[in-house]
Amino acid sequence: MEPAHPLLRPEDLIVLEGLRSKGQAWIVGGWVRESISGKKDTDVDIATTLHPDEVQGIFPRSLMVGAKYGTVCVRLEEEVAGNQIWEVTTLRSDGSYGDGRRPDDVQFGTNIEDDLSRRDFTINAMALEHPYGRDSLIDPFNGREDLLKGILTSVGDPRERISEDGLRILRAFRFMDGGDEGVREIDGPLSDAISSSLEMLDMVSNERICSELSIILSGNRVNEIVAKMEDLGVLEHISGSLLRKSGFNLCNDLEVNLALLCWEFDGDGSQLRAVLRQELMLSNSVLDEVSFLHDCRNEMMETGEGYLRRFAAALPERRKSRVLEYLGALGRDVSAFSEALKIIGAPRAGLSPLVNGHDLSRETGLPPGPRLGMLKGWLYRRQVEDDLVTFDEVIRLLEEIDWDDSDPEEWKKMEWP
Ligand code: ATP
Ligand code: MG
Repeated sequence: MEPAHPLLRPEDLIVLEGLRSKGQAWIVGGWVRESISGKKDTDVDIATTLHPDEVQGIFPRSLMVGAKYGTVCVRLEEEVAGNQIWEVTTLRSDGSYGDGRRPDDVQFGTNIEDDLSRRDFTINAMALEHPYGRDSLIDPFNGREDLLKGILTSVGDPRERISEDGLRILRAFRFMDGGDEGVREIDGPLSDAISSSLEMLDMVSNERICSELSIILSGNRVNEIVAKMEDLGVLEHISGSLLRKSGFNLCNDLEVNLALLCWEFDGDGSQLRAVLRQELMLSNSVLDEVSFLHDCRNEMMETGEGYLRRFAAALPERRKSRVLEYLGALGRDVSAFSEALKIIGAPRAGLSPLVNGHDLSRETGLPPGPRLGMLKGWLYRRQVEDDLVTFDEVIRLLEEIDWDDSDPEEWKKMEWP
């Protein structure tokens, strides 16, 4: 027997062999595409002549969540492959797409070429007949050639294909990202079809839009891709006028990119958060980051030691690098700040207050309550800014303010900015 494809793992072969013992099976979709570019790390999606229940018969631990549409998530015995999943889909020859999302009725087919013809782009419409021979690529739409040329083109008439499923508009931008190979060009007919079918996006759920957008905005070549999305009217269609390219250099961090695209938003971070939440179904953690960054957009990034120490102590590492990346992309010179940050060192007393509420209540006689809490926060801020190390040093700060009578709202707490 010829050796298996070098990028396939033994577990992949177990799944393929299992299916091939009862029917036919092909590797399809992303894995075929990526393997032609010599890449690993993509799920092995499989098409088969077997029906879902037959697949489950071979692999009893399979999950039948998408069985109605022909997709079974195959799992091997736990000791062989843990809970890894292979998406195994029965060959299809779809019926009509009444709702622009999924076919009204799923018809199982027998022919791999028919199955490939319902796929979105030529580079995604290839199959590997069997994992051994080198000549086993089934490529009826010249996907390999398009892949090597870096061209994204529809299988069949692009307008028709988008009218079946509006999500394909966003998938087109996702697949512009060719990783190390650079950016793929969406060809003319597909571009025209996208810009004249924007209303098809209205049929796509916010969750799907958000998930595709998140993939796009955290990939490579985001600048070119977002520029094209703007050109074809997609960005505006999915976000009102919230997301705009604005000429800033985007990176591969979703949160930073969203904040950059929302730079023109005329309101504070929490207002932006509310609008983004309404327009796009972003997760809370993404919304938190974007609104935080938006609130930093006018921050001057001073290089005074207290300010630097507070920045270093108040923010998690990821957020610190996001702030610097975001402000840098906005054209702010953050190099002096970044340099100073590197040499400032960790706080000598660590990252917890030297004086706790109990101590403070004893020292001042203040009862537990908001005043005591705010005083404690202010002391901690000063501890960090001045890099204090002992309890006594911190307690001595009480001499600097009228903690008994002045308005506690004036006592700034430990936070940045
Ligand atoms: P990835 O590496 O990101 O998983 P992929 O190409 O495998 O990329 P999937 O979303 O896993 O993408 O889909 C697997 C395959 O199913 C695609 O390659 C494509 O052939 C087909 N496909 C997926 N979604 C659609 C769609 N909306 N319309 C047509 N074909 C689709
Ligand atoms: Mg896939």
